[in-house]
Amino acid sequence: MTHIWVNDQLMNRNEAKIDAEDRGYQFGDGVYEVIKVYKGNLFEMEAHINRFYRSADELRIIIPYTKDVLHKMVYDLVEADQLNTGHVYMQVTRGVAERQHYFPDEASATFTAYTQVSDRPVEQFEQGVKTVLYDDIRWLRCDIKSLNLLGAVLAKQAAHEADCAEAILHREDIVTEGSSSNVYGVKNGIVYTHPANNLILKGITRDVVFRCAKEQGIEIVEEAMTVEELLTMDEVFFTSTGAEVSPIIQINDTIIGDGEPGETTRKLQQAFEAKVQESITI
Ligand code: PMP
Repeated sequence: MTHIWVNDQLMNRNEAKIDAEDRGYQFGDGVYEVIKVYKGNLFEMEAHINRFYRSADELRIIIPYTKDVLHKMVYDLVEADQLNTGHVYMQVTRGVAERQHYFPDEASATFTAYTQVSDRPVEQFEQGVKTVLYDDIRWLRCDIKSLNLLGAVLAKQAAHEADCAEAILHREDIVTEGSSSNVYGVKNGIVYTHPANNLILKGITRDVVFRCAKEQGIEIVEEAMTVEELLTMDEVFFTSTGAEVSPIIQINDTIIGDGEPGETTRKLQQAFEAKVQESITI
């Protein structure tokens, strides 16, 4: 919306200036987070902040604020924009320096954060989505939420061109995750998803869904599926900050189950919704 943090200055977005030699711009040398806001409440904020610092730390980028200060900055941004339901985008880069691949001696990090109004995709929750399979051509540190997103951009574009909502990525025969989501299959009531290693991003929504499953007595097994196994699951769904828990009813030409969102997916959606409602305190 109208405000943006550029380092420690909260300003109007049209006043913000980013240097052409910012390493985020030239190398994608930075990390980011997207945090959902429900009726003015930041959802799972602590988890997002922890992952933001972890991603930065893995790249030896120093975020120049304490976690508490950053939390307050994001909160103040949501207040300044009077954001009701939408999300916060924040990123930190290694900063501005004359272009050289190796780390500069002097640069200090560039932090930016702004908000965006976005509705919850309720139709998608109800009806489910169609997806395509796409080769996972990304690097081998997908656990870092880095600004380098070309593998995801190309995958999502393939989905978009096929009139699909998401691309499901696979390395050779192994399903990893979605282009911007985690992917799960359900067989005989048991949920399968790729283990949280270097090949996927450990989603915050994934963590919430694990908690929901535990509370509902639903077993989740962190075991990678082959493409063939995924296509023959009873149910398939995906999760992310924006998509929450969304059913997948078709992958390429294969209809999943009976082409309707399944029972386990529904249970997890309801449990997730309860967590959203619990988070709304103001
Ligand atoms: N995997 C990838 C590659 C993603 O980009 C995202 C979206 N950030 C996710 C998984 C889901 O993460 P989260 O639930 O934290 O939004």
